[in-house]
Amino acid sequence: MAPNSETPAPDGPAVRLRARRDLAVAAAVRQGLVDDEQPLVALLDLRTVHDTVHALHTAFGEAGTADRPPLHTFAVKAGSLVPVLRLLNGLGVGCEVASPGELALARAAGVPADRIVLDSPAKTTAELREALELGITLNVDNSQELTRLDRLTAGTTPRGALGLRINPQLGAGSIDAMSTATATSKFGVALQDPGARAWVLRAYADRPWLTALHCHVGSQGMPLEQMAAGVAATYELAEEINEAALAARGRRQIASLDIGGGLPVNFDSDEVSPTYGEYARLLKDRVPGLFDGRYRVVTEFGRSLLAKAGVIVARVEYTKSAGGRRIAVTHAGAQVATRTVFAPESWPLRVAAYDADGRPGTGAPVRQDVAGPCCFAGDLVARDRELPALEPGDHAALLDTGAYYASTPFGYNSLPRPAVHGFTVGPEGVPEFTVIRRAQTVAELVAESGG
Ligand SMILES: *Cc1c(COP(=O)(O)O)cnc(C)c1O
Repeated sequence: MAPNSETPAPDGPAVRLRARRDLAVAAAVRQGLVDDEQPLVALLDLRTVHDTVHALHTAFGEAGTADRPPLHTFAVKAGSLVPVLRLLNGLGVGCEVASPGELALARAAGVPADRIVLDSPAKTTAELREALELGITLNVDNSQELTRLDRLTAGTTPRGALGLRINPQLGAGSIDAMSTATATSKFGVALQDPGARAWVLRAYADRPWLTALHCHVGSQGMPLEQMAAGVAATYELAEEINEAALAARGRRQIASLDIGGGLPVNFDSDEVSPTYGEYARLLKDRVPGLFDGRYRVVTEFGRSLLAKAGVIVARVEYTKSAGGRRIAVTHAGAQVATRTVFAPESWPLRVAAYDADGRPGTGAPVRQDVAGPCCFAGDLVARDRELPALEPGDHAALLDTGAYYASTPFGYNSLPRPAVHGFTVGPEGVPEFTVIRRAQTVAELVAESGG
């Protein structure tokens, strides 16, 4: 992680975010949302969610034209919680789904069909049929899937927008597992492979009902310039398809361009960097035609919409020392911070210390490991990290964990899914909580495990 040298403005958004977080952690401890029975809880700052969505609308609104507003969708895998999807839908953000479960969550949240986009490399025939019946947007991953669709749509004009996902093959970002635009990525049609571009042009020429084009140059670890290059490659292909359609049938064919998600998140401070504004301005500079009103722009941001809003609060159960190393054993480990535990170099998290009353820790920093409850040695969320010395009964908070972390738990050691509470802070500085997902009970866990 690059050290962060900026000093945040005293009344800037980063300072307010931190102030709200501190109030919420203290209130959660005081109100018993985290206690001996539930030693782990996730909190989501709803004000931050509102502000982030507002920043997204503003950024793309300023880049585009008023008569062709973009369709923003949220990648459900980044926060698969129905009340969160409902909140986002109320703020004008639909859903990008990649499985029957995610589609069901979006529908349970009341997201209308014209704001749902289905992407997945492994759609079954039943999924394709359901998508066609619902009239949602569908991005086709490969030629075999397209052949299936030919059969399913035979003789009819699909209601939803259908398009191909392409992979512009621009290379990896800094995290291989998150790089969707490598030469050999499993996603989409590999555009630079021999014959592929001609195949895509033919596929559109033969199917006037293909009216969309999709790429997702993700994700965390990807430089913005490379993301913009992926969007540029997609735009150029769309222009080529449209020119061919104009020549052959007298009208353009591709009406919407789905530019995916993948805006990286800054995990080393409370500052938002990069911003949606920076990305939209870069896109407008590199791909001006994207915003001139001829295309509807579709986006699918996930992590960047929620990460900063979330904090996971775990009680410190014990502290110990081993081989000269100080260790705080907490209740947050691989079950909620899976990527951080298994790939710590790629997914470092900030950990904040709070005392037994939920007040920010003020002790002198000492080096310590922050461990989780799982029964394997590598279950650490921070190694040799300088923090105020954590003591039993204190709390360790994992910051920037609003996306993917608590909403995507790992079932190791039969640890229950923790509760997720949304919060707002009133003018008096008093946090108010609402349940987003209640904690899984042990009885539910037994039932789920065949008991
Ligand atoms: C995961 C995913 C996204 C969201 O990616 P983030 O990095 O969370 O923004 C968007 N589109 C597709 C197709 C995805 O698979």
